[in-house]
Amino acid sequence: MTSPEPIILVCVPATAPLCVEGATFDQVCSQCRQNVMLAPSGQRFLKEHPASSILCRQCYCPEPSDLPCGLTATSPGELRAEIASIRPNTWRHRN
Ligand SMILES: [Zn+2]
Repeated sequence: MTSPEPIILVCVPATAPLCVEGATFDQVCSQCRQNVMLAPSGQRFLKEHPASSILCRQCYCPEPSDLPCGLTATSPGELRAEIASIRPNTWRHRN
């Protein structure tokens, strides 16, 4: 199984108003080093993809007005589906 593209796991900051039951706060953003919240689904994802880069939402999408990538999941199942759909942001490389 080869994956040439890096996997980016986007997390909300640990200071986010939303929280998921069972979430952990001991992971840090790979860019700004702030603590991020990792939901159980994210913890499982990280276990399955240990090479993933963790990015907080701000580092992944510094211009939220340009991209609709806010965290809108309201349940762990929905969050899991959201995380499963995360992929490298090729939008940034287009001309
Ligand atoms: Zn960050």
